[in-house]
Amino acid sequence: MIFRKGKTELEKMRRANLIVAEVLDHLSRLVKPGVSTKELDEVAEELIRKSGGLPSFKGYQGFPASVCASVNEEVVHGIPRRDKILCEGDILAVDVGVQFEGYHGDSARTFPVGQISDELSKLLEVTKESLYEGIREVKVGTRVSDVSAAIQAHVEAYGFSIVREFVGHGIGKSLHEEPQVPNYGTPGRGPRLREGMVLAIEPMVNLGGPGVKVLADNWTAVTIDGQCSAHFEHSVAVTDNGPWILSEPS
Ligand code: MG
Ligand code: MG
Repeated sequence: MIFRKGKTELEKMRRANLIVAEVLDHLSRLVKPGVSTKELDEVAEELIRKSGGLPSFKGYQGFPASVCASVNEEVVHGIPRRDKILCEGDILAVDVGVQFEGYHGDSARTFPVGQISDELSKLLEVTKESLYEGIREVKVGTRVSDVSAAIQAHVEAYGFSIVREFVGHGIGKSLHEEPQVPNYGTPGRGPRLREGMVLAIEPMVNLGGPGVKVLADNWTAVTIDGQCSAHFEHSVAVTDNGPWILSEPS
């Protein structure tokens, strides 16, 4: 069942996502060598609650923190830790979820820590671009896999690889709703996009091979080859005028 949202619901989702964007903006200024991912999590939780929201991830299936913080070879779902200290040249993916008046917002960005290599800069740039390539396909009448295929084509043109094990998703009253939105696939498949659907589109892109595994903490996903991975995500509504990126302030 794919839930479509009306105007009032979309306005609430916009509010939730604008809090998410504000948190990511704020964290972007704090990311630097010597900072722990736990410190960033604490700042994020305080800002979310001060804004009238709730951290969607905290307690979700037992997740112990307010944001996911994934460093270097960590792909997604990294647990913020006091002893995870950022170093010059690292990359840090931060994923933020906020519930506001019963609706969720969800967005992620990958930040450079100090100066990063040209190769990692390219990985971040291409991953972000691929998200926008996917978003361009968000309009009434296209199919979910048109989004997927656009992301995959962009990423693979640069020789990077797409993670298969984790996918984007519908979002609304629940953090994860139907449909699933893979970041790979053949165009013209899957549900047709209709007005009022909201998709969290979130390419996860690896520098090396596509393989990932989950660590013994049962959360942190890492690349099997130990190479770096990047993640960008926006929550996007389907409107008659095309995509409305709820998690991007206009
Ligand atoms: Mg997310
Ligand atoms: Mg998501």
